[in-house]
Amino acid sequence: MSSITRAVAYLVDLPVEAERNDAVQSFLKQETIFVEISTADGAAGTGYSYTIGTGGTAVLALLRDYLLPRLHGQDARRIDAIWQDLFAATRATAVGAITSLALAAVDTALWDLRGRQTGLPLWIMAGGARDRVPLYDTEVGWLHLTTEELVAGARKAVAQGRRGIKVKIGKPSAVEDAERLTAVRSAVGPDLDLMVDANQSMTAAEAVRRAALLTPVNLLWLEEPLPADDLDGHAHLARSTTIPVAVGESLYSIGQFAQYLRRGAAGVVQADVARIGGITPWLKVAHLAEAHNVAICPHFLMELHVSLAAAVPNGHYLEYIPQLTAITSSPLAVEDGAALVPRTPGLGIDWDRDAIDALRKA
Ligand code: MG
Repeated sequence: MSSITRAVAYLVDLPVEAERNDAVQSFLKQETIFVEISTADGAAGTGYSYTIGTGGTAVLALLRDYLLPRLHGQDARRIDAIWQDLFAATRATAVGAITSLALAAVDTALWDLRGRQTGLPLWIMAGGARDRVPLYDTEVGWLHLTTEELVAGARKAVAQGRRGIKVKIGKPSAVEDAERLTAVRSAVGPDLDLMVDANQSMTAAEAVRRAALLTPVNLLWLEEPLPADDLDGHAHLARSTTIPVAVGESLYSIGQFAQYLRRGAAGVVQADVARIGGITPWLKVAHLAEAHNVAICPHFLMELHVSLAAAVPNGHYLEYIPQLTAITSSPLAVEDGAALVPRTPGLGIDWDRDAIDALRKA
């Protein structure tokens, strides 16, 4: 019997592995919300979700007080039915970040359980389109870094074989942003993919102006130029620049992605498996993007997203930001600038249970 007999949640605080600042925020710590689920026939799965510093206890409370009690007796194999049941139970707080993050912790645990029960790794269960994904490096491009540090990091990334690097923008002076990017482009040459990320810091009018200034640098994408709820602004910007506009890390439902894609307001989508509510809705977004001939380059969580980006035919790039080193013993395998899929059953993440217990906060 695959009926769920146990479902627990807990919170682990992970210190950031590097100082990370962008135009609007700092990555303070990774609040990691775990869910463990087991069934009557002895199967078990571990899922997780995260915040970059606030709201973790709210996600934990939603899980413990409302969502996990609904799981008991449900058939763990019916993942979409469970997702819909939990979503329906949280209608008054959905669509919203806290609810999506809670749903993701459950959903990823169920996919892990399914993989461990069937012996299949996630990238196969989810489609198996390829077994590796090119990596781009975000760790070398934070906004607080000096131009000299940016250039040194970019050179290091090239030496490591990275296919691309992302640089944060949103300095008070648009000219300063342009000068930083120009310095990086000169250092790495014409072939490396360069992306920029404004973290929702601009108005549409300002983004149009800044995109024109940055165009000579030859950018692969301009990420989150505007607040995520400014759909009209994104559509206007996308029509006004030759740089592809990337969005998705701040969208929390498949319907929001559908609106962006219908309007031609996203040239790249960056769905985040935690913020979209789990693997189940992530795959729906990926396939929706495929139907619109748009690539998906997931945000953060490389340890989990490597399997998903590889699973779908339109997975293009994986973002390199290591943040689970302290609690895992399965570091991302990299070969010739591409991340290789983990081939162990389930999510493919080998958790260090002692390290997790030592960092457990609630
Ligand atoms: Mg971003």
